Amino acid sequence: MNSPLEDADRKYIWHPFTQMKEWEQGHPVIIERGEGPFLISIDGQRYLDGVSSLWVNIHGHAKKEINDAITAQLGRIAHSTLLGLSNVPAIQLAERLADLLDPALSHIFYSDNGSTAVEVALKMAFQYWKHKGEDGRNSFLALNNAYHGDTLGAVSVGGVEIFHHAFGPLLFKTFRAPSPYCYRCELGRERAECDFACLDAMEEQMRGHQGGIAAVIVEPLVQAAGGMIVSPPGYLKGVRDLCTKYGILMIADEVATGFGRTGQMFACGHEGVVPDIICLSKGITGGYLPLAVTVTTDEVYSAFLGEFRDLKTFFHGHSYTGNPLGCAAALACLDIFEKEKVIEGLAPKVELFSKLLREMAGLQHVGDVRFRGLMAGVELVRDKATKEPYAWEEKIGWRVALKALEKGLFIRPLGNIIVLIPPLSITMDELRRMLGIIRDSIEEAL
Ligand SMILES: *Cc1c(COP(=O)(O)O)cnc(C)c1O
Repeated sequence: MNSPLEDADRKYIWHPFTQMKEWEQGHPVIIERGEGPFLISIDGQRYLDGVSSLWVNIHGHAKKEINDAITAQLGRIAHSTLLGLSNVPAIQLAERLADLLDPALSHIFYSDNGSTAVEVALKMAFQYWKHKGEDGRNSFLALNNAYHGDTLGAVSVGGVEIFHHAFGPLLFKTFRAPSPYCYRCELGRERAECDFACLDAMEEQMRGHQGGIAAVIVEPLVQAAGGMIVSPPGYLKGVRDLCTKYGILMIADEVATGFGRTGQMFACGHEGVVPDIICLSKGITGGYLPLAVTVTTDEVYSAFLGEFRDLKTFFHGHSYTGNPLGCAAALACLDIFEKEKVIEGLAPKVELFSKLLREMAGLQHVGDVRFRGLMAGVELVRDKATKEPYAWEEKIGWRVALKALEKGLFIRPLGNIIVLIPPLSITMDELRRMLGIIRDSIEEAL
């Protein structure tokens, strides 16, 4: 029997990235509460949150310190604008983030989700060059398999064919470089001998369009929504070196990788890379409230300084920019990182996660297992020897996800790729349980 909530969901909610005809035929799991890494449905079922509520949750659900910080802020004020005013938590958070990031990144522009953080970065980079008198830099260089959000600017620099195809006519032109997807190298090379041929291809684009590219945008270390594609060590540093060599700005979209996911606070830290612009969102509030920042250098910021009549102002902003509740949650989230020594405590979890994932590589239909920190993708293939993929219409990932749900684990796959991004607070036992369920689900579904 359907509950009234279930009926109302079907009647009124249009779910994102969802074929609603299928949805209407199923029974939605309706979540009512959360507890640490668990989601609890209206009928009392507990599900391990294997994807951190779409990659946002960090310290678990219903974390007392974050709840308390939001409640305390709520007693003061819920929202006040940054257009013409400032507010206490927004100032405190900006200072904290600047301390956390490389000293070169110190000017913080607030928005409210990952896509807007990317829009801000693109417009900032574009306008920077106008102010520098370089009017020809009207394009960007992005990677195949990139995902930077769903607004049109972010889609223009995106490279996930299945999501972006329909919107082609609405998008601005973007130059492309190969994805560092070693399992299925676009250039047909093997990592052992390739000597970063993909970076050579990127350089060719830069050389060919010198003076036309405002910025290169990349997801450091992991192209997440494009299939949890983990770039080989040295790749990110290679991109930074090319940007420096050709005088092109580098935008690091750390919306997915930021706040500890890769084992360090920011993915760029693994290779000592300092981008010109960094985008942060998802984990910034611990997964509590929508908030984002785009952070840049003195060089970019100061190009926008001038007299009012010069029209160098950055004409961009959002209604909920610098929302005090979001900033209070983010401050509490950072406090927990410090107090609980979260980054320091990740090493054994990452080690266990890697070990269990490597073991999974032996399964018959597991073609590739890739991971960094607590982010992983398990690519399922029809034929391991030839790497023949399952046709996307077969919804192989979903078949595994459905099995996992029956066993008490919620995941959301990307096509044939099983995605695992647990909250950083997950325990070793819960990690073992999660990977065990995945293993069984793959064996049963295929
Ligand atoms: C999720 C994501 C975005 C978009 O963030 P939204 O908050 O969903 O708009 C942008 N970039 C990357 C790398 C992401 O993973």
